[in-house]
Amino acid sequence: MRYDDSDRAREVAERANALMEEVVLPIERERAGGMAVSSGTVAELREAAREYDVYAPQIPEEYGGMGLSFRDSLPTFEEAGRSLLGQVAMRVDAPDEGNMHLLELAGDDLQKETYLEPLVAGDLKSGFSMTEPMQGAGSDPKMIRTRAERDGDEWIIDGHKWWTTQGVEADLLIVLARTDPDAHPYEGCSLFLVPADADGVEVVRDVPHMGGGSHGASHAEIRYENVRVPEEHLLGELNEGFTHAQERLGPARLTHCMRYSGMAQRSLDIAKAYTSEREGFDSTLSDKQSLRHRIAQAETELHVARTAIRDAADRIAAGDEARVPVSMCKVYTANVTQDAIDLAVQCCGANGIGKDLPLSDFYESVRQFRIVDGADEVHRRVIARAAFEDVPEEELEPLTRFGDPNRERSTDR
Ligand SMILES: Cc1cc2nc3c(=O)[nH]c(=O)nc-3n(C[C@H](O)[C@H](O)[C@H](O)COP(=O)(O)OP(=O)(O)OC[C@H]3O[C@@H](n4cnc5c(N)ncnc54)[C@H](O)[C@@H]3O)c2cc1C
Repeated sequence: MRYDDSDRAREVAERANALMEEVVLPIERERAGGMAVSSGTVAELREAAREYDVYAPQIPEEYGGMGLSFRDSLPTFEEAGRSLLGQVAMRVDAPDEGNMHLLELAGDDLQKETYLEPLVAGDLKSGFSMTEPMQGAGSDPKMIRTRAERDGDEWIIDGHKWWTTQGVEADLLIVLARTDPDAHPYEGCSLFLVPADADGVEVVRDVPHMGGGSHGASHAEIRYENVRVPEEHLLGELNEGFTHAQERLGPARLTHCMRYSGMAQRSLDIAKAYTSEREGFDSTLSDKQSLRHRIAQAETELHVARTAIRDAADRIAAGDEARVPVSMCKVYTANVTQDAIDLAVQCCGANGIGKDLPLSDFYESVRQFRIVDGADEVHRRVIARAAFEDVPEEELEPLTRFGDPNRERSTDR
């Protein structure tokens, strides 16, 4: 399927495809049973990505990336998403990818030099600490309880976070904390750059979780107790933390969607390959109409998702926040990707459950996508709010209400 992508976007995605076919997928296939790769392999993959000229496409050249626009990067994100290793190789892996984007948007020169450039180079790892255990911030971020108070030219952070992806390995934690307790619940929060080795940062545990896959990032529970950071570690504007978080999350949701659509496409490709070779009941499985129709449906849904993601990215590129289109993409892509992977598992029988193929890793990985970066219901809430904004009451004028005295009686037909 050909999309309305620029020539540059297409060229980079083609090189990314070559990297995937020639380097990443062979390494993925060598791993026995979905085993995690070593940091040495990650370094080799990144070196290869540089050789293919597809390393950090979304980052400006001055910080070590390739300087593609957000929109032009998307097809490469999709290529990268075809394997859990592709995103790591091309440095488009969450959560660093979103954090790099946030630093690029909100960071000052010193913050960019200290954190953004080493992150792009792969010398640092980062985590984004927003979610808290019950009854702190979760789906409803205004419930945030972590606080930061000013003390001279320092900030003191106290709080409790969890599900900070890569939090155990991170060198840098970006922490959302309330800085103005009197402000409206959706305001008065700020972001802080917290070195993971700062006094008072305690990684309690890697929360045991479904999935993990080939590069096995942690999801950390972290306590912040009396953590002092200097004034310069405030990221972006004071009390504008939610705005900055939104600037990170909007595009990050679309890049997530593209990575996952790559995963969905690869799953369908594997399903088509398997069913084309596997015989049963006097023909190949790919001859069975029930399977063909389901694959046709999944391909259609994936096409709709890809088109909608590009439309939302175009709107963002034009300066629109595109909140509703982004929510639509997020909830739709998460669900159709999950369905496509589930279908591929089914089509491949026991091989779908086994770990010789990547489907089982994909299956475990995709489930989180309907929860992270806003659960389905939270995005549907955003969509529904807009949908109900301008209800055309006049459409119901012809209807009869109980006991309506103003209604003309008529027997005319
Ligand atoms: C793998 C993984 C990685 C993550 N990485 C990070 C990270 O790096 N940094 C970070 O800060 N957080 C991270 N999170 C946390 C994630 O952002 C939250 O899990 C998510 O925002 C939901 O919050 P919650 O878990 O507290 O769910 P809750 O708020 O307890 O909601 C539970 C469920 O209730 C339903 N629900 C919620 N609101 C409504 C509503 N209004 N109407 C109807 N139903 C509703 C939804 O189905 C939701 O899943 C991660 C989570 C996972 C699973």
